[in-house]
Amino acid sequence: MVAMTELTKEQVTEALEKVIDPEIGRPISELNMIGEIEITDTELRVQILLTIAGCPMRGDIEAQARRALNEVKGERELVLTMTPMTDEQRSELREKLSGPTRENPFTKPGSLTRIYAITSGKGGVGKSSITTNLAAAMAAQGLKVGVLDADIYGFSIPRMLGVENAPTIIDGMIVPPLAHGVKVISIGMFVPEGEPVVWRGPMLHRALQQFLTDVHWGDLDALLLDLPPGTGDVAISLAGLLPDSEIIVVTTPQVAAAEVAGRAGAIAAQTHQRVLGVIENMSYLPGPDGTRVELFGSGGGEQVSNELSELLGYQVPLLGMVPIDIALRQGADSGQPAATASGDSESGRTLTEIAQQLAKRARGLAGRQLGVQPL
Ligand code: ADP
Repeated sequence: MVAMTELTKEQVTEALEKVIDPEIGRPISELNMIGEIEITDTELRVQILLTIAGCPMRGDIEAQARRALNEVKGERELVLTMTPMTDEQRSELREKLSGPTRENPFTKPGSLTRIYAITSGKGGVGKSSITTNLAAAMAAQGLKVGVLDADIYGFSIPRMLGVENAPTIIDGMIVPPLAHGVKVISIGMFVPEGEPVVWRGPMLHRALQQFLTDVHWGDLDALLLDLPPGTGDVAISLAGLLPDSEIIVVTTPQVAAAEVAGRAGAIAAQTHQRVLGVIENMSYLPGPDGTRVELFGSGGGEQVSNELSELLGYQVPLLGMVPIDIALRQGADSGQPAATASGDSESGRTLTEIAQQLAKRARGLAGRQLGVQPL
């Protein structure tokens, strides 16, 4: 008979520390997901507890667990079972993750998450394309990034980031799906497919509040908000819920577009938010010979930057000019943001540069509003 290698439950648990739940981003050992462990001379039996029965990440978790356990099992046969948690186990996990009371983690004193609200005057200027590319590029640079798609009229972020799974709900806590390393929650994930969002002020406000309190965002370096165009209910609600969020205005070079974009930025004067900068999109069509065709005119981004600088009394810079590029459009349609796609593209490069500017200022208290009210 072959002499059996010693194996303890502690060693098995330790091996499973390497298994990361891809959605929550923490080891399964920390998530109470390890059930019964039985070790005999011939078998290693391990039970993994899944947060929900149809867990979309089941295959991934199982493969990781198998790999980790094969390293320690010795000659034993591995019997791995995956069972859903009981309601009680799920409740315990929810409490462990979010604490017994639900609160908005981004307004807690000491929160270091930078929050960027991406806005535009009107639809179709590329606000969502820019949001997804900046988010994916920042995640690729090693930042922990979340996107909240609050564009009730045209939620398009899930498609642009290629999100396939719905959020997982653990005892009322919403675990956002991950795509390109970005945690994504969209208002579109909570309305029946093909139906428009008909929510008005108070209902919208409650939904947004829930996205901040009930979503397990974890410790983010940056949260990007994709706002609906204009200055409607969502922008006002989010300004109230996230007073530290900084605004980035997207415009095209066209004078008429710039005028309305300026108005969307000017909301900051009332909400006391900071406008971080302006991004001009569809700035030019690059020709093969290096020439630039200015399809939509020129100067819109600079115009918005100047107007807002004057209105707000500080420099609102033009952060970048993104060209018209088939790669950007194709990337958005196929869920592969140009900024992180394998092929090189001019739009992808420009957006990566803008993401670098933002990443550099990630995490920090500089420029924050102080929680002091004037008497
Ligand atoms: P918004 O969020 O402002 O409504 P989108 O990001 O949805 O705008 O963009 C509108 C359309 O324009 C999309 O089909 C998108 O792929 C395309 N698009 C946006 N920016 C560019 C660009 N720089 N070059 C080519 N196509 C673009």
